Amino acid sequence: MTWRASVLTLFPEMFPGPLGLSLAGKALRDGRWALEALDIRGFATDRHRSVDDTPFGGGAGMVMRPDVVDAALGAAIAAQPAARRIYLTPRGRLLDQALVRELAAGPGVILLCGRYEGVDQRVIEARELEEVSAGDVVLSGGEVAAILLLDACVRLLPGVMGAADSATEESHGPEGLLEYPHYTRPAEWQGRTVPEVLLSGHHAEVAKWRRARAEEATRTRRPDLWAKHLNRNAGEGGRLD
Ligand code: SAM
Repeated sequence: MTWRASVLTLFPEMFPGPLGLSLAGKALRDGRWALEALDIRGFATDRHRSVDDTPFGGGAGMVMRPDVVDAALGAAIAAQPAARRIYLTPRGRLLDQALVRELAAGPGVILLCGRYEGVDQRVIEARELEEVSAGDVVLSGGEVAAILLLDACVRLLPGVMGAADSATEESHGPEGLLEYPHYTRPAEWQGRTVPEVLLSGHHAEVAKWRRARAEEATRTRRPDLWAKHLNRNAGEGGRLD
């Protein structure tokens, strides 16, 4: 069955956007995944087609109404009952590659994009939405976060990436390491050379060098990931040094 994404948004014209290009765009045209952008405003019932109102308790900004968002969610869930339902919000759990792998392995996703101050909490609870954040930053809307999540999922779908750009050796893989650095021609550029071992043609030595650089990058740049990597290995009977 085709992996399917429904995006609930006030800006359906933002889709497919960059997802219509390159790897994701080709996969979309090849039918390896399907994308539907649902206009939340189409579910408004009053004469002004309002989707938001002022916050109870006062304060700045507007809040997206639960009744309108619920009607949009209802339509998306009816079309895709087994999909994971996600509200993109800076208050959510941080998106990571483990969650991306999980989502890509499922039947698809329903993504709710907020605007203004966000969505009335009651509809998030009533529809049991998972709250997911694209990072510790505040965007003006959930659409860019949805595009980020979909881009990461789609490249993992079967047949989307060729062997040439396979995901077997890359950052945030099952081992939780960052990737080693890359080099291409020319072998010397602006007086900078390429590490000798990469020119040696000795595959085992190249693999050893790459592993060491991957470990070094993770340890120095992301001590949080390095600690997790060590714990994982310790759990599998590895050593903690
Ligand atoms: N008032 C909210 C807060 O302080 O947490 C921020 C609202 S933001 C201006 C509007 C919408 O953008 C949110 O409802 C959410 O859908 C989306 N958004 C903003 N930052 C995001 C992030 N880091 N990850 C995912 N979605 C985000």
